[in-house]
Amino acid sequence: MSVIGIDFGNESCYVAAAKAGGIETLANDYSLRATPSFVAFDGKKRIIGVAAKNQQVTNMKNTVSGFKRLLGRKFNDPHVQRELNSIPTKVDQRTDGSIGYKVNYLDQEQYFSPEQLTAMLFTKLKETSTTALQAQVNDCVIACPAYFTNSERKALLDAAQIAGLNVLRLMNETTATALSYGFYKQDLPDESKPRNVVFVDCGNSSLQVSVCAFTKGKLKMLASAWDQIGGRDFDNVLAEHFAKEFYDRYKLNAKTNPRAYLRLLTEIEKLKKQMSANSTKLPINIECFMDDVDVSSSMQRSQMEDLSSHLFKRVEMTFIKLLQDSKLSLDDIHSVEVVGGTTRIPAIKQLIEQVFGKPASTTLNQDESVSRGAALQCAIMSPAVRVREFGVTDIQNYAVKVSWDGEGSQAGGEIEVFPAFHSAPFSRLLTLNRKEPFSMTVQYAQSIPFPDPVIGKWFIKDVKPNERGEHQEVKVKVRINHHGLVLISSASLVDKKEEETANAGVAAGEQNLAASSEEKGNAGDQQQQTGNGGEPMDVQQEGSDKKKKSTKLIELPMEVKTHGFSSPDLQNLVQQEAKMIANDARETQRVDARNALEEYVYDMRNKLQGGPLERYVLEADREAICSQLNDLENWLYEEGEDCDRDTYVNKLKGLHTQTDPIKERANDYENAPTAFDELNHSI
Ligand code: ATP
Ligand code: MG
Repeated sequence: MSVIGIDFGNESCYVAAAKAGGIETLANDYSLRATPSFVAFDGKKRIIGVAAKNQQVTNMKNTVSGFKRLLGRKFNDPHVQRELNSIPTKVDQRTDGSIGYKVNYLDQEQYFSPEQLTAMLFTKLKETSTTALQAQVNDCVIACPAYFTNSERKALLDAAQIAGLNVLRLMNETTATALSYGFYKQDLPDESKPRNVVFVDCGNSSLQVSVCAFTKGKLKMLASAWDQIGGRDFDNVLAEHFAKEFYDRYKLNAKTNPRAYLRLLTEIEKLKKQMSANSTKLPINIECFMDDVDVSSSMQRSQMEDLSSHLFKRVEMTFIKLLQDSKLSLDDIHSVEVVGGTTRIPAIKQLIEQVFGKPASTTLNQDESVSRGAALQCAIMSPAVRVREFGVTDIQNYAVKVSWDGEGSQAGGEIEVFPAFHSAPFSRLLTLNRKEPFSMTVQYAQSIPFPDPVIGKWFIKDVKPNERGEHQEVKVKVRINHHGLVLISSASLVDKKEEETANAGVAAGEQNLAASSEEKGNAGDQQQQTGNGGEPMDVQQEGSDKKKKSTKLIELPMEVKTHGFSSPDLQNLVQQEAKMIANDARETQRVDARNALEEYVYDMRNKLQGGPLERYVLEADREAICSQLNDLENWLYEEGEDCDRDTYVNKLKGLHTQTDPIKERANDYENAPTAFDELNHSI
């Protein structure tokens, strides 16, 4: 039994498995560890991962990438509009305001959402894992950017569910990296003097920096900062530069030709990587760029640094912000570890040294540490794998407030339940005095990288006055769960029947703070949001010491409007994905059957015409079979190109009926001398 950790990158994904023997990064169908986050479509099937990226230039309109950054968002979100500026696929607004990638699949125009595309990628990663591990894989931990807001996290969980993955935890990417750093360290200090390490992850689409305090067997994230800067921004700066140069020198406008622009970007990425290792002038050449014209130019690292100075400035500002938010002094920081492809740019390493006063340390596997950390977390949480414990306390980046509506003479109110960088998971209990059903809104209380601050609205039902017609206490649990989702996980009525008087207080007061020690395993959100057992619960369980033992908590039913697909919609999407998986499998079998037939035709012809089988068949029969083989070959390239699997299988069977006797004769004859020899000996 094994469990996996997934790093879902904007450019590429990595999957690591935790097994009895340790952590292993898995290779895909191309024997590569990186699976490009690309999904493509054609008349027959989906193409996902390496194969999808490989065919991008010839199938641009139906090849989709970069959808990680659109998860959980609406079409008219300005961030989405910016992202859509630079993609060759057609994207439309759906009637519900969501994002629809329009592609031609199975010879039909079809729309897919970023969540569905992510699910397709997850399906591929699940297959990769199943093949590599020779075992069914369901339980996983998926990493996501620490700056992801509630809607993006819920969308990612929905995508995983569509692909049939059971997510034990959504883990912030830098936290996963921190775990892969800390887990094996034998020399971590005790609680009195934590080791503070900064983790810098600059990938394809974003920069994330976090600081983490390590003590023996534990890590605690302290603060995070981020910006939307990644490798693709450097690529774009260079693409602008060369597009202009080629326009000036060759009068070729790459911006009017998506295919040429894509080739330019591909060459630029190679050049950029070379510049990271080499400060001398390096060439860029593209044959038949446009109008059959070859183009060439060159660049050296210092020039790239000048052109990208505005990006480096933002990188620097992000580092400074982390330092400020963490409230640590430079002396408090033990080291700075870098991961992610773009931290290979030397100028970024220099900025690290400049801001943090320490050289960037590269002790971690730069590409695989996120997936490895996620796999470790999965192993820690899963009962299926035995692994040493390591405590992970994460943070939730943004301040959150809860507000509630008024009732009769009572005014509504609001309270900040979690300040920014609050540790997670965590639950907080609020107490309100109510006699009627009411609603509560949970929202972010600071600027966030998402257009709508509202997380959700919870309708708390079945609240009634007590026998004397007075307010009753309602306890509401607000929670940051282990996925970083914020929700009201339960509401309960305090049944004080045996008490003499009821408290007639007015507004809500916060009653107690209870850090919930998270349960091992997978607590489904859905269940918590609608949790409605109605069973009495002993107040003692909540850790409240104010109440008498006789007081009971009666769980109240809730209705919730928050992010993510509704249950029926999700079921529908699960079915659609299952259908596409079945279709892909059928298509693979069909192509395999066709290839098997084609191969047999070639093989037989070679063996029958001047090959080893020629002398075991009568000339007339041989000619008849060969002419049949030629006909079959022609058929395969013409009307037989696109038949169903059974047609190929039956043709192959037919061929075998004719050719197997020849092979048997050859076999018998070749074995005969040996048999004869043995006979001789025994005489
Ligand atoms: P994200 O974390 O933003 O979701 P990702 O995890 O897919 O994206 P990575 O795989 O960490 O991203 O990094 C990919 C980026 O790193 C690409 O933009 C790539 O061009 C860049 N990159 C890789 N190697 C180098 C290098 N040697 N020099 C400069 N950039 C590099
Ligand atoms: Mg990444």
